[in-house]
Amino acid sequence: MTSRIFGRGAAALPAAVRGEGCYIVDEAGRRYLDGSGGAAVSCLGHSDPDVRAAIHDQLDRIAFAHTGFFTSKAAEELADRLVANAPEGIGKVYLLSGGSEAVEAAIKLARQYYLEIGQPERRHLIARRQSYHGNTLGALAAGGNAWRREKYQPLLVETHHVAPCFEYHFREEGESAFDYGQRVANELETEIERLGAETVMAFIAEPVVGATAGAVPAVDGYFRRIREICDRHGVLLILDEVMCGMGRTGTLFACEQDGIAPDIVTIAKGLGAGYAPIGAMLCSDEIYGAIASGSGSFQHGHTYHGHPLAAAAGKAVLDAILDRDLLPRVRARGEALEAALNAAFGQHPHVGDIRGRGLFRGIELVEDRSIKTSFDPARKLHAKIKAAAMAEGLICYPAGGTVDGRRGDHVLLAPPFIITEDQIGELVGKLGRAIDTALAA
Ligand code: PLP
Repeated sequence: MTSRIFGRGAAALPAAVRGEGCYIVDEAGRRYLDGSGGAAVSCLGHSDPDVRAAIHDQLDRIAFAHTGFFTSKAAEELADRLVANAPEGIGKVYLLSGGSEAVEAAIKLARQYYLEIGQPERRHLIARRQSYHGNTLGALAAGGNAWRREKYQPLLVETHHVAPCFEYHFREEGESAFDYGQRVANELETEIERLGAETVMAFIAEPVVGATAGAVPAVDGYFRRIREICDRHGVLLILDEVMCGMGRTGTLFACEQDGIAPDIVTIAKGLGAGYAPIGAMLCSDEIYGAIASGSGSFQHGHTYHGHPLAAAAGKAVLDAILDRDLLPRVRARGEALEAALNAAFGQHPHVGDIRGRGLFRGIELVEDRSIKTSFDPARKLHAKIKAAAMAEGLICYPAGGTVDGRRGDHVLLAPPFIITEDQIGELVGKLGRAIDTALAA
């Protein structure tokens, strides 16, 4: 059947008709284990009764009331609970409909903050070359992912990029992990000084890099150094936790494990957990206070921001994560997943790296492990793994990309927090067969 939906031409996709815990069932009755939460979205699986009930309940009361006229109990309660569990200093929440919107709002807020405090020359944004912050023009401009940006280049606002923290590929022989982290963090200071510190408004980074590299955490000390540099130069630190936040790495906010607090943080995917499109931008009391006592309001807004149905879903997801003690479970299951990946792929001739935190894991495929050479991109290994995994009944998130001259194929794993030990075994078994099939093709 020809589909009228963009990008759904020749290659027919199965239609998903039902969710059962960690599984998606298609119209032919085939079951797929969701090993990546789609793209790190479905943290509670596909049939959570509490989240469904919360959405139904909200729908029975009222579906929509414009935020220019009303707030809602759901949005207020969600914001309260997010702030109560947010990194130090974070005091206000701006609800949106997804990750790109949250990043756009974060960038605009940084700019408005500096205008309000009388530093209009601060306009530069610095990001990392290995990063994805969304597909809208502002968020795409922030991202460092070359192939995603290429076609839109004249339309993108100027952003400056520095090196990522990617130990597997870029730590030098004989260099300690800590020293490597300090070295690449210092590139931010060099760039700030090159641009002129008084002209830089913010630095944006993912604490654990997701889509472009496959669950790459920074080495110990990197983000503490980044925080110091930002503080020294009056540059705001925006952390993009759209993918790695909401408990995915074992703490509600991934940055808790790096020992730092941002000025602004974005969350999305796991906040709605797939039950509703919702994202959020959270900021410090200091930033909010400057605007509140200045012009009085953040110059922003979308028709659907703070949508009550989405807020009800987000509140129920957050309650589930916190009240069902899912964070310790993510840590324990994350260790089990790591152990299973090491057992299955630790000696695999084409698996160069197994990495990540909590239930956010990645494996990198290389042609030659000893010298970390990548496969020829023309082989489209990641696409073959995705197809072979679907044939096995497994959803995973393989991708390929290049950063600073190093190409890689990786598979990102982000299963629901409710995954069992048996399902971890099923996931790793299916993934192993999919990788072998793709390598043999
Ligand atoms: N930021 C990060 C870190 C992401 O991984 C993504 C999506 O993958 C986005 C932003 C954009 O989110 P959305 O697709 O909800 O617009």
